[in-house]
Amino acid sequence: METSQLSGSNALGATLDLARATPAVAAVNLSGLTRGQLAAALVEAGVVPAAKAKMRAGQIFRWVHFRGVTDFEQMTDVAKETRAALAGAFVLTRPEIVERQVSKDGTRKYLIRVAPGIEVEAVYIPDVGRVGALCVSSQVGCTLNCTFCHTGTQALVRNLTAAEIVAQVQVAKDDLDEWAVDGEDRKLSNIVFMGMGEPLYNLDAVADAIEIISDNEGIAISRRRITVSTSGVVPQLQALGERTQAMLAISLHATNDALRDVLVPLNRKYDIATLIEGIRNYPGISNARRVTFEYVMLKDVNDSLDEARALVQLLKGVPAKINLIPFNPWPGTQYECSDWATIERFAAILNRAGYSSPIRTPRGRDILAACGQLKSESEKVRASVRRRDAAALAQSPS
Ligand code: SAH
Ligand code: SF4
Repeated sequence: METSQLSGSNALGATLDLARATPAVAAVNLSGLTRGQLAAALVEAGVVPAAKAKMRAGQIFRWVHFRGVTDFEQMTDVAKETRAALAGAFVLTRPEIVERQVSKDGTRKYLIRVAPGIEVEAVYIPDVGRVGALCVSSQVGCTLNCTFCHTGTQALVRNLTAAEIVAQVQVAKDDLDEWAVDGEDRKLSNIVFMGMGEPLYNLDAVADAIEIISDNEGIAISRRRITVSTSGVVPQLQALGERTQAMLAISLHATNDALRDVLVPLNRKYDIATLIEGIRNYPGISNARRVTFEYVMLKDVNDSLDEARALVQLLKGVPAKINLIPFNPWPGTQYECSDWATIERFAAILNRAGYSSPIRTPRGRDILAACGQLKSESEKVRASVRRRDAAALAQSPS
């Protein structure tokens, strides 16, 4: 595969697959610019003079991120010539929603085509967080190969840009019809970076997206209601905390290195002791701002009561919450989900030790929207359907 190291505000130094990359000449989507970046871009494009940039940027930012407009013509208090200049220099379009599914339990899943051939999924889950959470993706595919994760079986296609991450939130807000709605009446209160990909391998875009989503002039979801989940990229933890002030979630899944080396191969690079040390130093961590430890329940692999006790020992002194995730099976996986009684016994040990350890109820199973990896399943199905169609086409007499 031909790859190239691109630079520039949208490329973020990621290694991109050129065949599928957004064309370098594509106009900048304003949705991916922080308020500060927007002011600079307006001046650079000659749309407004420097002296007026901050004020104009605030005005335009509110149209885009508070009101959710998708057309410069809707910015009624912006002069006609300025609107025309904006339309000449930038775009504001939403990506195409390839598929939208709603589960019996209210979970909504969106398959979004952010660029030709680049599709990601975002899942809205009601009654999670304060009123509802949106699970967003940070990459298409993943470079890591956690053995229980379906996304891990997909090669990284590319990093998402800040605009493409923000677009997932915009699509959900369009669908929930909640632009320009006061905080109290909202259905979307929390954002979790628990979709496809490793957010800490795309920190520039993730940090910009968080700045945009949390900006009080726009979508205004507090940084304390934004959680970034990582498999443990220890050297980036400090930067994540400093740049985003987001809540931290760690995909732990094992209490000893021998097992974690297998489940989360990144552990061979940053072992459990190194990881825990990095977490203790996470900026802003306190009993009021605990780290969430995610622990996927794999039958006869990591679900013994001894492991529950080891988990309690391991997390001693770390302000922690533990989230037990029943394993979601996928075609070809070697793992099974622990029995419900085992999960409950495991949770009871954690609870007795004083940890809040909710078992994450699988949501949206009827539309294949449960935890993380099912997103890639939908892509995989699509890919296999494409291959089947291509094969059928090749065999059919012309
Ligand atoms: N790459 C990041 C964030 C995305 S994964 C990370 O690994 O943290 C979001 C969560 O779903 C992680 O805790 C991941 O371990 C978990 N997960 C992955 N595959 C799963 C599966 N098959 N069943 C249940 N949880 C899974
Ligand atoms: Fe990547 Fe997270 Fe899946 Fe591991 S669990 S393969 S880091 S998406």
